[in-house]
Amino acid sequence: MNYRTSLGFVTLFVSLVTCTQAANQFQERADHFLVLVNANYEALYRVNSEAQWLASTDVTPAHDAGSVVAGKAYAAFNGSPALINEAKDLLTHRAKLNELTIRELERVLLNAAEGPMTNPDLVAARIAAETQQASMMNSFGFKLNDQPITANQIDTKLETSTDLAERLAVWEASKQIGPVLKPGLVKLRDLRNGVARELGHADYFALQAASYGMTTDEMIKLNDDFMRVLRPLYLQLHTWAKYKMAAKYHQPVPKRIPAHWINNRWAQEWTGLVEAADLDEHFKDRTPEWIVRTAEQFYADIGLNPLPASFWTKSDLYPVPAGDPRKKNAHASCWHIDLENDIRSLMSVEANSEWFFTAHHELGHGHYFMLYTRPEVPPLLRNSANPAFHEGFAEVISLASSQVPYLQYRGVLPADFKADATAFLLNDALSSSIPFMFWSSGTMAHWEADIYAKNLPPDQWNARWWQYVRDFQGVESPTNRGEEWCDAATKTHINDAPCYYYSYAMAFVIKFQLHDYVARHILHQPPQSCNYAGHPEVGAWFKSFLEKGETEDWRKLLREATGEDLSTRAMVEYFKPLQAWLEEQNRGRPIGWE
Ligand SMILES: [Zn+2]
Repeated sequence: MNYRTSLGFVTLFVSLVTCTQAANQFQERADHFLVLVNANYEALYRVNSEAQWLASTDVTPAHDAGSVVAGKAYAAFNGSPALINEAKDLLTHRAKLNELTIRELERVLLNAAEGPMTNPDLVAARIAAETQQASMMNSFGFKLNDQPITANQIDTKLETSTDLAERLAVWEASKQIGPVLKPGLVKLRDLRNGVARELGHADYFALQAASYGMTTDEMIKLNDDFMRVLRPLYLQLHTWAKYKMAAKYHQPVPKRIPAHWINNRWAQEWTGLVEAADLDEHFKDRTPEWIVRTAEQFYADIGLNPLPASFWTKSDLYPVPAGDPRKKNAHASCWHIDLENDIRSLMSVEANSEWFFTAHHELGHGHYFMLYTRPEVPPLLRNSANPAFHEGFAEVISLASSQVPYLQYRGVLPADFKADATAFLLNDALSSSIPFMFWSSGTMAHWEADIYAKNLPPDQWNARWWQYVRDFQGVESPTNRGEEWCDAATKTHINDAPCYYYSYAMAFVIKFQLHDYVARHILHQPPQSCNYAGHPEVGAWFKSFLEKGETEDWRKLLREATGEDLSTRAMVEYFKPLQAWLEEQNRGRPIGWE
């Protein structure tokens, strides 16, 4: 060894020491900062959820006002300039920080980006515009033949009427709200984009995609890939459904399906086409309490710990009794009130099949909360691996709870029940899986990317909307829909959960991937017909990756858990028996709409 090399070694050693000291200094600074942020974040999160919970379970003007105040305090903390500046500055030294710290700091900035108080006027203008849009949405009065009609009545008529003239009138009535909401949406597009740009995101769509660690183009490409793989199945379903509906309405078979033929106002789910798949009669002797306790038993049967005792005392699970003046939010949900062990669900459970599956679904959120509530996961990262994972896990349990062997094991279906497997699969595909993907990954994702990321001028909004409905969904409007309408704005999420809807598509993809893994690799049962109960190794497998919360990249997590990247492969295979059946049914029919 010569002197030169030796000196080189010494220099290197010294510089390493310096480097380590500097790293410690930034890591220490970040540690101190994050202790404070996590503690405040958790405290304000709790105050905010308590207020929102009260406003949702007992709707009064005072509770509404309380929830607005708590929401403002929570937002002011998350968006505070001191937080933004320190997180940004620390991230310029990311090479000297550990991975968990980097993820926490990035989460601080993503939370801040929704309401950065570096530009308080802009943030206030956005909140005011959103509040106004919500109040216009909630107070709008639909009319049919000059008579008031509620949104629920519209849905019921579309589910039951076979009179096409009446269906057309009802469908048109459902679109009356669009023009009323359009000016607010134009304004909100610009305000939301402005808010997103405040922290360096190109636009609001880009900010939402950043929660997945993705760009807008990557997100659109991913959704296009979902549809490309599913397209052969969709074309078969589309053909089968339009022949079925043409017969039902005594009409010639069209190329594209007229929108008012479908029960759902946006053609997002195609329900009511498969009569043999109704299970409600098997639940009529059960109680709502039995439904919820049975849903909780599902998790015990796969070896997961029970929900905290407070779940049963603090939740609001059943409809408000007749005569009680209290009003509660009708939407089922599950809440992680304090990011610790206060977990509650808001439902209105009744004894039917839909609530049976929904209760399994909502408790899935509760068990996911519990799994990642542990000291290794800081409160900032007590979240699903990506925004779609929560819904994906809840959905996989809902899917498992609807399978015949599980329903027989529970005694809901008799042991000798002969399921019409094709009918169940067909109903599942049409009413909750495949058309939904072309609506969410296609029409919704593309239209919102166009208006937010590509700044599509408002005088082209309706034409673009219907272009996408035709091209992606194979559905067309029954009448001419000019720019005096704004049919996209009739969808609630376009107004109040912007640039997020593809998350539902992703959740469905995750659902089938997780279910496929459980069925094939753990249970060794067919994915279309299996029973998770009595298999603690299923719970152990879920725990192994769900307990990580948001502490790791979701792509790595999914790959490690299932051995594959996010893909619609499992969904296609799930419905493979149906594909062959549909091809047989559709023999000789023109497929598609081009
Ligand atoms: Zn859910």
